[in-house]
Amino acid sequence: MKTLKDMNLRDKKVLMRVDFNVPVKNGEVSDDTRLSAHVPTINSILEQGPRSLILISHLGRPKGAPKPEFSLKVVLPHLKKLLGKEVHFFEDCAGPDTKTRLEKLPAGSISLLENLRFYSEEKNNDENFARKLASYGDVFIQDAFAVSHRAHASTAGIPKLLPSAAGVLIQKEVKYLSDLLKNPRKPFVAVLGGAKVSTKISVMKSLLSKVDYLLVGGAMSYTFLKARGENTGLSLVENDFLEKAKEIDEAAKEKLLLPTDHLISKSFEAPLESSVSEVIPEGFYGVDIGPQTIRKYEEVLKTAKTIFWNGPMGVFEVTEFSAGTRRIAEIIAETTKSGAVSVAGGGDSVSAIKKTGLASNFSHISTGGGASLEFVEGRLLPGIEALKQE
Ligand code: AMP
Repeated sequence: MKTLKDMNLRDKKVLMRVDFNVPVKNGEVSDDTRLSAHVPTINSILEQGPRSLILISHLGRPKGAPKPEFSLKVVLPHLKKLLGKEVHFFEDCAGPDTKTRLEKLPAGSISLLENLRFYSEEKNNDENFARKLASYGDVFIQDAFAVSHRAHASTAGIPKLLPSAAGVLIQKEVKYLSDLLKNPRKPFVAVLGGAKVSTKISVMKSLLSKVDYLLVGGAMSYTFLKARGENTGLSLVENDFLEKAKEIDEAAKEKLLLPTDHLISKSFEAPLESSVSEVIPEGFYGVDIGPQTIRKYEEVLKTAKTIFWNGPMGVFEVTEFSAGTRRIAEIIAETTKSGAVSVAGGGDSVSAIKKTGLASNFSHISTGGGASLEFVEGRLLPGIEALKQE
């Protein structure tokens, strides 16, 4: 992959794809992780003295038309503060005069263009749209790891048209994630949770060929337990995937660990008649892993030299059902302090880790949900492939 070091950016117009797809609440950025994640790349570009820096991004799912609630203008105040610099905002990323107006800005200026997904051409990887965007720059820096699994105009299209390289964030993501696949220090333990087995079959298969242990939690464990013939009560089970779960379980042998006790509740949303149990009776949902499971998972995690985590251990959004997820985050943080490399990927596990305040204790928290899972599945990501040296 070409990186910033391979590029001479002095006096160049630098077009940079960022992922400013931040959560917005009441018209304000409620979490600026996705903005600050790009600051190292932006600063290292600016240090080289470019003619200009033009930032392009998407926000949300406006479905190919301008919608004020998805305007990137919302990030401007936060971005200016983070950079300590003026940023010019353009209300159309591909208007008839966008290029001429960009060129009139003073040397060294930074611009942010409006949401790329206000044009359906972005997601369709339309060549003319990519050409228009590419015409703003002399070089292209890709830093939006979270969309690199998509073949869009700004991920797969532009690199075909301009000399292109990976930013610091993509470099870091690729380093941590490819180390997991290529040379993890052993023992390598993966923890997978979340709602569904169906969305994680490929990543499970890929991980099972590399890990020493795969610890399963969250609702996906109930499909495996049911496939083993256990009662799962009202718990979320994917009946269409029982066969598949059985197949994976049998092939994994003793590598795959399932919960042996659970927090059960009569309601999903609130702790109604909740208690810890080794079996899930009729009329109850499994909502979190139980203390015996946590102890077993802790024992295994404490031996690990490499850890990958994706997906919460229970319905962590409800405080009473979040103890398992929180404790797993603490154990991984403690093991990292003792020298293990820990990588967390995927939207919900990341928000769960942030809730515990332990994010800085992980070696790497991926900014990509789908992208990090596809990477770990061993798939080639179009946005990364496009940056490879010929
Ligand atoms: P995913 O996006 O597949 O990682 O799934 C995350 C979602 O799984 C979260 O919203 C959790 O509330 C949900 N989840 C985790 N454990 C359970 C469970 N035992 N029952 C129902 N939903 C769960």
